[in-house]
Amino acid sequence: MRIRCMRSKDNISPVRGAVILCAGKGERTGLSYNKVLHSIGVKTVLETVLDVFCETVDRITVVAAESDIARIEQITAQFPDVDIVIGGKTRFDSVRIGLENTPCDIAVIHDGARPFVTQDIIERSIDSAIKFGSGIAAVKSIDTVKRVGADGKAVSLPRDELYNVQTPQTFKYDEILSAYRNACTDINFTDDAEVYERAGFSPRLIDGDYSNIKITTAQDLLPRTTRDSRIGVGYDVHKLVEGRALILGGVNIPYEKGLLGHSDADVLTHAVMDALLSAVDLPDIGVLFPDTDERYLGISSMKLLSEVMNRLRSAGYTINNVSAVVIAERPKLCGIIPEIRKNLASALGINTSAVNVSATTAEGLGIVGNGAAIAASASCILTGVIK
Ligand code: MG
Repeated sequence: MRIRCMRSKDNISPVRGAVILCAGKGERTGLSYNKVLHSIGVKTVLETVLDVFCETVDRITVVAAESDIARIEQITAQFPDVDIVIGGKTRFDSVRIGLENTPCDIAVIHDGARPFVTQDIIERSIDSAIKFGSGIAAVKSIDTVKRVGADGKAVSLPRDELYNVQTPQTFKYDEILSAYRNACTDINFTDDAEVYERAGFSPRLIDGDYSNIKITTAQDLLPRTTRDSRIGVGYDVHKLVEGRALILGGVNIPYEKGLLGHSDADVLTHAVMDALLSAVDLPDIGVLFPDTDERYLGISSMKLLSEVMNRLRSAGYTINNVSAVVIAERPKLCGIIPEIRKNLASALGINTSAVNVSATTAEGLGIVGNGAAIAASASCILTGVIK
């Protein structure tokens, strides 16, 4: 195990390290192998987790069982700044080993079997740890919870005060490391916040997400289709003219021409907004933000997207994924697409891996093919939020 001297991505912020726990057996899933190695969609559970964490932290330690090392090494080789250590007999031991091997300023502890974590949740937990010492992802308890005593009598607990705790659980590194080093090993700790609490600190909760489940049973491995998934499609085209900026997905692209329109004419963001609105059966952007309204003259389409996101949240939906294509003869966009994806993902509040953008040409055909216009098409799938 190498212990490297790390700097944060911007050289100013605290160094953020993550300990990803993958040493469990997960026997309740019925698999003959570790559940973090199970494929969900096109990636394993662990790859899905690492995709998200690589976007949000500076270094990662995967804590693994010795028997899984070869396979986990294959997976982590695709990611920068990921180390592997062998875990202990219990979760407590594995976390302590992971922390000892991940020197940093802010430590994010996460179950490897929670692949539906988002960058937003991780960032919220980090922000809370920077401000208050800790940030523990949690959701309000939906079910009523009873305590049953030795006499078999059930006692009601006030549901409004109860939360289901998830990971990530994020802490100031020195505090959580000392809490683990000095903890009483007779206690069966079930999460990191309890270790922190018993060391005299006050854990602080942040909003987790009901979809951030820990894969535990065979049922959790089934495809997460839902009766409340909705698809949306959007399309737009704008004329290319001289004297205008070319903006796609909120990114200003150096080019001799730009798109003409009442707003900033960001054709890609317009297609994405129309896809989102069509999915929830809301009017399109031509109706919501008419080009006869002076308020929208020259407005950034990212501001309009923010308004669309408010409407989506009010309607009770979250975005599963967005897939879009820009059709342009010129300029070539392949080099700028990673920045466009990242920018759109940030505005949509989802992971970059959930926003695919591709580019193609019109093979010289029509107004797009002769370079007079750029078109874009987008599709999305939304999921109803559990309330
Ligand atoms: Mg438009």
